[in-house]
Order: sequence, then structure tokens, then C-alpha cells
Amino acid sequence: MKHIIANWKMNKTKEEALSFVQKLSFFLETNNYNKCNISIAPPFVHLPVLYNTNNSFNLIAQNVSVENFGAFTGEVSAAMLKDYVKHVIVGHSERRKYFNETNELLYKKIKILLENSLCPVFCFGESIHARNKGDYLDFIERQLEDVIMLFSQNELSNILLAYEPVWAIGSGSSANELQINEVHTFVRDLIEKKYGSMYAEKIPILYGGSCNSDNTSIILRQPNVDGLLIGGASLSNDHFHQIIQLANSLD
Ligand code: PEP
Repeated sequence: MKHIIANWKMNKTKEEALSFVQKLSFFLETNNYNKCNISIAPPFVHLPVLYNTNNSFNLIAQNVSVENFGAFTGEVSAAMLKDYVKHVIVGHSERRKYFNETNELLYKKIKILLENSLCPVFCFGESIHARNKGDYLDFIERQLEDVIMLFSQNELSNILLAYEPVWAIGSGSSANELQINEVHTFVRDLIEKKYGSMYAEKIPILYGGSCNSDNTSIILRQPNVDGLLIGGASLSNDHFHQIIQLANSLD
């Protein structure tokens, strides 16, 4: 089963979101895409709206507060999200960059999600600086060790990982298959060393960073890639439907 997640970021008005999901639902209901698990991560305000219209795909939240409740203007808690989603994106590079989210904070966010029976979609990936310097595997290992590897196997039983090299996000060109393979294999090996092979085989590792209909098949054919996290190309019905069609046609 391939996981296909649309991360809309801060895009789409209510009307645009409704029009998109109406077309998506029709597309999914008239075709049998049983090899893909489709999810949409819309802005928070659209979650209740889309929740009431949909049953052919999952909803995911783009963020969660590190606090449970109280005087934190503008924040949304895990308990509030629970009514609409099962998964929440944590660690996206835009949150790390523009909102100064550190590994320490991300650890706390994941803890809160788990306490509320929500599953993290944990994003990690190196900067262009680490890639060019050549120590990107160390950089990635640190991101995983400082956040998700502090949890037990049991706690992480429903986590999804998403490798998102920062330099590929929104750039128009994805990492190539050798680069993706190297990191995904490295991450699966790290997980295996800590949690054992039974668990390592099962944990989904998605790729994100300029995925589109031209590179979907080649990326998803890589042995350790279990799905895609898609930004820009998930905003258009045509592009997103093409990606689903391609993902579903692979063995
Ligand atoms: C993302 O930000 O998660 C992402 C993958 O964006 P894009 O597909 O636009 O590179």
C-alpha cells in the first residue's frame, strides 16, 4: 500500500478546497485505487468542512500545538484535532525554518500526539549545506535520534516517516533515485538497529520534495519508498489525480 499525502500548506479558500475534494472524491469513487492510501492535509480551518463531505480519503493536520490547552493565542491542540484526523504532520522544514521548531520541541509535540492517540507524520531531511558538505547522513541520524528514537517501538507503532531534503522542497527538481535510495536505506537500517527488523520493515518511509507526475513512478519504484508527501503538485486536481493513477499502477 502506497501512502499519498497532499500537503496544501497555506493554500486554498473554503470554496477552492470544497471544489477540489468534490472532484477528488468523484475520481476516487469512479476508479478502484485500492493500492493507495490517499490523504489531504488542508489548513486547520478546512478540517471540519472537509470532514463532513468526505469518506474516500483521510484528513491529516499540518501542525499541532505543543501545549494541551490555555492562553496560547492562535494555537490548536491535539485534543481539538482528534475529532477530525488520525495523523498530524510534525517537523516539516517550513515549521523548523520559519517558526524555529527545534528537535526538542518536536519531541514534545510527538509526545502530546501519542498521549492523544494521534499518529505523527514525522518529516526530516538535510539542508543544502549538509548535503554539500557531505555529512547529510549524520545530520539525518541526529534528527531521528533526537526525536523519534527517544520513543519506544510500541509508542511508534503508527508513525509515518517522510524524508524531505530541504533543498528539493519547492525547487521543481526532486532528489534523484540514488540519493533517495541511499537515505531511505540508511534510515531503515537505523530503525532496524534500534527496534529490530520486524518493525523496521513495517514503518512507512515516504519521500517528499518536488514530486510530480513525471517523477512519481521512478521514485515509488525504489525499494524503500512507501509513498509520497506532495506539496505544489497536490494543489491541482489534474496533477494530483495523475500521481494517484501512476502510484496505483505500480506493483
Ligand atoms: C513539502 O513541502 O512537503 C513538499 C514536498 O513540497 P513540494 O512538493 O512543493 O516540493
